[in-house]
Amino acid sequence: MRPFRYEQPPDAASAIVLLERSPGAAVLGGGTNLVDLMRLGVESPDLLVDVTRLPLGGIDDTADGGLLVGAGVRNSDLAADLRVRQRFPVLAEALLNGASGQLRNLATVGGNLLQRTRCPYFQDVAKPCNKRVPGSGCPAREGEHRNLAVLGWSEHCVATHPSDMAVALAALDAIVHVEGPRGARRMPMVGFHRLPDDEPERDTMLRHGQLVTAVEVPPLPLAVRSAYRKVRERASFSFAVVSVAAALDVEHGHVKDVRIALGGVAHAPWRAVLAEEALRGQPTTHASFARAADTELAHARPLRDNGYKVPLARNLVVRTLHELAEGG
Ligand SMILES: Cc1cc2nc3c(=O)[nH]c(=O)nc-3n(C[C@H](O)[C@H](O)[C@H](O)COP(=O)(O)OP(=O)(O)OC[C@H]3O[C@@H](n4cnc5c(N)ncnc54)[C@H](O)[C@@H]3O)c2cc1C
Ligand code: SF4
Repeated sequence: MRPFRYEQPPDAASAIVLLERSPGAAVLGGGTNLVDLMRLGVESPDLLVDVTRLPLGGIDDTADGGLLVGAGVRNSDLAADLRVRQRFPVLAEALLNGASGQLRNLATVGGNLLQRTRCPYFQDVAKPCNKRVPGSGCPAREGEHRNLAVLGWSEHCVATHPSDMAVALAALDAIVHVEGPRGARRMPMVGFHRLPDDEPERDTMLRHGQLVTAVEVPPLPLAVRSAYRKVRERASFSFAVVSVAAALDVEHGHVKDVRIALGGVAHAPWRAVLAEEALRGQPTTHASFARAADTELAHARPLRDNGYKVPLARNLVVRTLHELAEGG
């Protein structure tokens, strides 16, 4: 591992100054992803700006009935919060489906959002990878890609985003609060993570020097009936092969409103707006759920070895919506 300096600033403003002065600096949250990548030689920052002592550890009610979650809140604390479990069960379930108990105790909300892809080529410095070394190529396109994207990929990168929490936050229309050298900004969660296009090295809309300070979950009454369902290769802990975050409002046997996001299928959490549009006003039947899923997945472009994800995503959407329709 390359030698690095370590700073523990007392507030966000000092953290931003440190980052701005050092183009090679990285933000350190719980370290459960960044330190692994440093050990592998994938990341080699010359300065770690530890943000875990910043006053970003609160979960506060907002005036309109939503929640403001500090970027330093640990994943286990957010999952255990009674307001989250009652008002946004999809978020608590997504968090509890991610990693292991020990990792969730360390992992922060900011770090979870900004964690890097698990594409095997990205993690192997002996291999080319456009995300790690822009312009070096994407061996995953013709190589090992069983677990990679079926939607929104580009010829430059076919990686998926690994966070479960981010999928729930995309379904909930969360807003990411960011502070940087040019002041504070609010970025909608949908669009915060980028599709790869011709710049796969950029995972999100953040620029160097910007810090995630909080995530706002706006009020969404229909989210009391919401769920996160994840297919993974082993039950203990594993990243999503495909996942679904959904919230459903039913009136007289018809869909009054719905939110759906997919994980494990794209470079970003995939908000299924086409499926949502297709469902509003429709009866809560298998046929409606399947038609909505098919409408969204008609845009899938599977690679040679990951076509199985399309029917898997379809079935998971249908099953999750059935569960929600029957549970209310
Ligand atoms: C064995 C294993 C299994 C896992 N399984 C899952 C899983 O199933 N689902 C899942 O979702 N995750 C899983 N994870 C990933 C885990 O959730 C992440 O490692 C964790 O959420 C990262 O949070 P952290 O605070 O430790 O981030 P760090 O490792 O500290 O940082 C991660 C990235 O975020 C940046 N960063 C951190 N905080 C901020 C901030 N406030 N502003 C801007 N940038 C910031 C860092 O610079 C770094 O690039 C797994 C991890 C392991 C090791
Ligand atoms: S899919 Fe993306 S992360 Fe994986 S090898 Fe290709 S460019 Fe790298």
